[in-house]
Amino acid sequence: MAEYDYDVLIIGAGPGGYVAAIRAAQLGLKTACVESRETLGGTCLNVGCIPSKAMLHGSEKFDEAASGALARYGVKLGKVELDLAALQADKADAVKGLTGGIEFLFKKNKVDWLKGFASFVSPGEGRDLVPQADRSRPEAPAFAGAHTVKVGDETVTAKNVVIATGSSVTPLPGVEVDNDKGVVVDSTGALELPKVPKKMVVIGGGVIGLELGSVWRRLGAAVTVVEFLDQLLPGMDMDVRKEAAKIFKKQGMELRLSTKVTGCTVKGKKATLMLEPASGGASETIEADCVLVSIGRRPNTHGLRIENIGLELNARGQIETDHAFRTKVDGVWAVGDVIPGPMLAHKAEDEGIAVAENIAGLTGIVNHDVIPSVVYTWPEIAGVGLTEEQAKERLSASARAVKVGKFPMLANSRAKTNHEPDGFVKVIADADTDRVLGVWCIASVAGTMIAQAAQAMEFGATSEDIAYTCHAHPTHSEAIKEAAMAVTGKPIHI
Ligand code: FAD
Ligand code: NAD
Repeated sequence: MAEYDYDVLIIGAGPGGYVAAIRAAQLGLKTACVESRETLGGTCLNVGCIPSKAMLHGSEKFDEAASGALARYGVKLGKVELDLAALQADKADAVKGLTGGIEFLFKKNKVDWLKGFASFVSPGEGRDLVPQADRSRPEAPAFAGAHTVKVGDETVTAKNVVIATGSSVTPLPGVEVDNDKGVVVDSTGALELPKVPKKMVVIGGGVIGLELGSVWRRLGAAVTVVEFLDQLLPGMDMDVRKEAAKIFKKQGMELRLSTKVTGCTVKGKKATLMLEPASGGASETIEADCVLVSIGRRPNTHGLRIENIGLELNARGQIETDHAFRTKVDGVWAVGDVIPGPMLAHKAEDEGIAVAENIAGLTGIVNHDVIPSVVYTWPEIAGVGLTEEQAKERLSASARAVKVGKFPMLANSRAKTNHEPDGFVKVIADADTDRVLGVWCIASVAGTMIAQAAQAMEFGATSEDIAYTCHAHPTHSEAIKEAAMAVTGKPIHI
């Protein structure tokens, strides 16, 4: 009989945890997954990717109908009205279907779902009396036993524990979130508003602010985005950030860049925000009937009691791992938002697969240089690999240069026909080797287009490889081919 209950115990059933659990079970390991939420799927399925995309899709349909944009296609509409409750119900349906789907997959793969909040029990405190190894202490015994984890009133032992506890909203001092009142909300509250605010202020011009700000703007709110930095979307290519700002302004969003929020008071259903230039200066106030705080997310480690196994957090509150997703404590692994890297569902999923394969003795690898990111606004904004700024900095260290090719969506036949003139594709390559280092797109379907760029980069493609790959006509993806042709100065359609 095994000396422990499970080969693998995963803490957290988000995209990192549930995928790790399924893969571990597929590989023949006895697997359990602990989740404190009522439903599986983590942030992504319950209050993140899925509900936000449902609201983005529904609000896009409403905007299309209400703005009169369909008239040019001969679609005549009478008075267009919003039934927000129906839109919310559609969103809830999507969440229910997908979270229930994970439950089905757990059953199918024989993954035990342990319901409750997990915390580590220190060696000697629980059923497991075998001391845990700590590689930072050479005198510590080699890993010989199992870890003990408390789930509610029960304890479970497992040879391997994967921490996949994800992240939650970073609070902003002086701006207190109260999702129940619905005046100052975080992303979870902003997905549940019972009515369309007249005036919404979004604090933070990152992904959440722009996606959820777009939802409520389309449904009728006047939206102001207050961003501390001088551009939106930190981390993205500078051309993309500048173009995105132009597009959102054109759509009617007010952008207050280089501005910080210094406080907020709420009276009844109104919030008053105090603003100041980011570099300091005269303050002003603005009022709103809804404030969305979206200034980033931080790893979930509170209450996990990692100190009981000798595990520490880095300066950013994350759990560090090696390339195989091992922490410094033997038998303890970590993936997803709780470890360094972009906080993205597909990154967490790929790490989930890799960690399970590594635990099973296979070689699970994630190429962190090729992780696409997509902002699901209209148009979509997507990128993979290095920005032009990063590429120049990296290559200049070895006296090398970059080549850039750009192609506007205005010159792409499909985008033009569909009346989607905004955006461009930009391909960044090493001037010596022609190897593609990064691809950035703003286009209605940029999120779909970026997959081919990620695949090309994964295969080590040159810009010439993309330029000489036959792309179906007429598709938005032809803009990637043309941008790749532009790297060597030879696009056809411009
Ligand atoms: P999570 O999904 O956060 O899951 C962790 C789970 O662990 C949670 O369910 C939590 O309840 C549970 N847990 C935590 N501690 C314990 C404990 N001690 N015991 C038991 N259970 C515990 N990413 C994208 O790629 N695309 C998108 O379109 C996208 N949209 C988003 C929209 C919003 C509004 C938000 C907030 C996020 C979005 N993200 C998106 C980010 C994405 O949701 C995360 O990157 C992803 O969910 C991370 O997965 P994870 O498994 O690491 O953690
Ligand atoms: P973010 O890091 O994308 O953006 C936060 C923004 O807030 C930044 O632009 C930052 O400069 C700004 N900011 C920080 N402090 C501020 C302050 N005091 N005043 C004004 N602005 C301030 O964070 P987010 O939008 O909250 O999203 C969190 C995470 O969720 C992201 O890491 C993202 O990867 C993930 N997410 C992804 C998607 C997607 O993939 N489509 C969608 C939603 C969320």
